[in-house]
Amino acid sequence: MTKENIGLKWEYAPSPEATDHAKINKQYELFINGKFTKPNSKKCYNTINPATEEVIAKIADANEKDVDLAVTSAKTAYDKYWKKLSGAERAKYIFRIARVIQERSRELAVIESLNGGKAIRESRDFDIPTAANHFFYYAGWADKLEYAFPNKKVQSLGVAAQIIPWNFPLLMAAWKIAPALATGNTVVLKPAESTPLTALKLAEIIQDCDLPPGVVNIITGFGATGAAMVNHPMVSKVAFTGSTDVGKLIQKSIAGTTKKLTLELGGKAANIVFDDAPINQAVEGIVNGIFFNQGHVCCAGSRLFVQENIAEEVISKLKARMQTLLVGNPLDKNTDIGAINSKEQLDKINNYLKIGVNEGLEIYQSDNCSLPKKGFFCKPTLFIGAAQSNRVVQEEIFGPVLTIQTFRTIEEVIEKANNIPYGLSAGVWTDKGSKIFNLTSKMRAGVVWANTYNKFDPTSPFGGYKESGFGREGGLHGLAPYVNLI
Ligand code: NAP
Ligand code: MG
Repeated sequence: MTKENIGLKWEYAPSPEATDHAKINKQYELFINGKFTKPNSKKCYNTINPATEEVIAKIADANEKDVDLAVTSAKTAYDKYWKKLSGAERAKYIFRIARVIQERSRELAVIESLNGGKAIRESRDFDIPTAANHFFYYAGWADKLEYAFPNKKVQSLGVAAQIIPWNFPLLMAAWKIAPALATGNTVVLKPAESTPLTALKLAEIIQDCDLPPGVVNIITGFGATGAAMVNHPMVSKVAFTGSTDVGKLIQKSIAGTTKKLTLELGGKAANIVFDDAPINQAVEGIVNGIFFNQGHVCCAGSRLFVQENIAEEVISKLKARMQTLLVGNPLDKNTDIGAINSKEQLDKINNYLKIGVNEGLEIYQSDNCSLPKKGFFCKPTLFIGAAQSNRVVQEEIFGPVLTIQTFRTIEEVIEKANNIPYGLSAGVWTDKGSKIFNLTSKMRAGVVWANTYNKFDPTSPFGGYKESGFGREGGLHGLAPYVNLI
C-alpha cells in the first residue's frame, strides 16, 4: 500500500456470491452408521444466518441414547473393518474426501459463510482449501506411520470423540477427522450448536466417498451432547477445541480413566512490532491478525505491542487502514469483516467494549463504517494506551478488538507478552533475524509468526502452552495423540 492510498475507502458495487448452487436441506438428522437417522430425543433446534437472523435449517439435538448409538457404531466399525484395513487402503478413502471437498469447495464456502457469518473471501480462500489440504496431508501419512515413529510399533486407539467450536467449522472438523482416520481410529464428531451445516455437508461427502458405515459419525446438539460423548465408556480418545472453561470441565470428567486427551483452548496473542520493522507490512499484519474472521480466532493477534518511538506512526497508519475496512454482508466478495457468529457472542464483545471504556482506555472505531441494520455486526475497534492490568488485555474477547501497549526494550516486551494465562500464538515484526530467534525462544506460545501472521499449513503443528491447552494438531506431531507406541 502506498502512502497516498492509505485511508482511502473505495466505493465498490455490491458483488454477492451466488447461493443458488448451495444445496441445503430444511432439516438435518444425525449421521450415524453411514445413514442420516432420526434423533431418539425427537428434538431439534433452528440454525440461523447470523448476518440476517433468518432460519436456515432445523438441526437434530442428540441425547445420551443418540450418543451411545453413534459411539457404538464407531466401535463396531473400528473392530470390524477399520483397524484391520491397511494404511494404503485407509489413505484411498481420505484422499477421496480431500478431492470431493475440493470439487465442492464453492458450495462449502457459501454454506460456511451463510451459517458462520465469515466473509466469503475467507471461507473461499482459506477455510475450505485448508480443510482439503489437511485431508490430503494426512492421507499421505496413513501408509507411512512406521516412518513417522521409527523403531516403534504403532497402534490405533479405537473411538475418538471430537468436539469443535464455531469459528472454523469445516477446518476444525478436518483437523480432527483426518489424523484420526489416517492412524486407524474411528470418529464421532460434534460441531458447535451454531455452525453445524458444513459438518453435515461433510457427512454427505463421507457417504458419497463410500466410507465403511460407522467409521465417521457426525452428531449435532449442545453442550450436554458433547459431555455425553466425553463420558461414554467406549471412547478411547477425546479431542476438544473450544473454551478454556469447557476444556477444564472435560479434563476433570475424564480424570482417572485411560482416555487420551488433547485440548486446544483460548488465546490472547501478543503481536510485537519493533522500530526496525517494515511498518506498512506490519500494519497489514496487525489488521489481518485481529480483524481476520471477525477476531473469532483463538490465535488472533489481540494484544499489540509497539516499540515506543514508532507508536504514533503505527497507530496513525492503523487508524487510516481501519477507515478502509468494509464490514457487512459476508457473502459479498469485497467484505473484509463479516457477521459476529451469534447474538450471545456479540453481547459478550459489546460488554468488553464497555469494560475497556470504563477502564479509562481511549477507544477508536472507524467513522467511515456503518453496520447493517439486521444481523450481528461489530465495528473493528482499538483500545489505545492499554496496560497489563486491564481486563481487556487479560481476558479473551474473541472479537475484532485490539488493545495497544507500548514498550522500550526486548526484555520488557517478552515479560509483558508472556504475563498472561494463555500461550497459543504470537507475532513479531523486525528486520533482524537475531531478534526473531531471541524472542521466539523466550515466548511461551505454541506458534510464533515472524513478519507475517495467521499463516497455516497442514505440515506445521499447532497448539498451546498454559491455559491454551496441550497436545498438537497438524504435521507429524498431530499423529501422536491418536496412537499408542509400543
Ligand atoms: P465452547 O463453548 O467451549 O464450545 C466448544 C464445543 O464444545 C462446542 O461444540 C460446544 O457445544 C461443546 N461443549 C460445550 N459444553 C460442553 C461440555 N460440557 N462438554 C463437552 N462439550 C461441550 O467454545 P465456543 O464458544 O464454541 O468457542 C470459542 C472458544 O474456543 C474460544 O475460547 C476460543 O479461543 C476457543 N478456540 C480454540 C481453538 C484452538 O485451536 N486452540 C480454536 C478455535 C476456538 P455447543 O456449541 O453446543 O455449546
Ligand atoms: Mg457454547
